Amino acid sequence: MTTTPTDTSRSAAAIDVQQLHKYFGDNEVLKGIDFHVANGQVVCVIGPSGSGKSTLLRCVNLLETPTSGKILIEGDEITDPDADVDKLRARIGMVFQSFNLFPHMTVLRNLTIAQQKVKGRKKEEAIEVARRNLEKVGLSEKESAYPAHLSGGQQQRVAIARALSMDPDLMLFDEPTSALDPELVGDVLEVMKDLASEGMTMMVVTHEMGFAREVGDNLVFMDGGVIVEEGDPNEVLANPQHERTQAFLSKVL
Ligand code: ADP
Ligand code: MG
Repeated sequence: MTTTPTDTSRSAAAIDVQQLHKYFGDNEVLKGIDFHVANGQVVCVIGPSGSGKSTLLRCVNLLETPTSGKILIEGDEITDPDADVDKLRARIGMVFQSFNLFPHMTVLRNLTIAQQKVKGRKKEEAIEVARRNLEKVGLSEKESAYPAHLSGGQQQRVAIARALSMDPDLMLFDEPTSALDPELVGDVLEVMKDLASEGMTMMVVTHEMGFAREVGDNLVFMDGGVIVEEGDPNEVLANPQHERTQAFLSKVL
């Protein structure tokens, strides 16, 4: 871990990505990505399938190891070989398209297990935190249910509550609503909107352009492993500067 003094790291960007490259074998999937997310900002990432969006998110919480480049989280370089990866990763909440709940555990247990095992919380405290977060996502009455008995939208809200129960400094979302039936998307976006308005720093890969427009502070368009264009979401969506952005948006809008 770096020895950045606290007062400096507090003012540092929440996420600072510098010249990030990622290869899978000979395949260069991220070709020099630079961007940063300020504290409390919501950045939405869009782009065609295979453009490297998931790989970028997975590098930010070190589910993938960058081939080269630097990533700093609130001033701490997580790509430093001496960094305490587990400790840094615990500061970052991640929500996937596929929910990834433990099917054999109740909702409440899904929310308490990592708090106890990773954060070392006592059972009672973990339950209290879990209940607070279940209430936040509107699912207090489901604490004894098993994931299979919940709708996809409810499962995703449980997954968000589970991530929040670890008290993350920032949240990464990888297409959180893409696996949901259309009528279930709204409730999940509503929870994410609430989080954003509470000041959570968020990086969201999404096809929900309405969400990007309404909630996003910044919109990043990726194609072929590079950031082609970024800016104010309303600007980028209404008036894309690059041909590739225009071509992509003409298909999805
Ligand atoms: P997106 O999320 O934008 O659809 P991904 O980041 O998932 O794109 O994938 C970008 C490219 O990286 C794709 O060509 C994909 O096949 C490749 N890729 C992703 N993960 C792996 C992996 N674990 N091993 C090999 N190739 C991968
Ligand atoms: Mg993806």
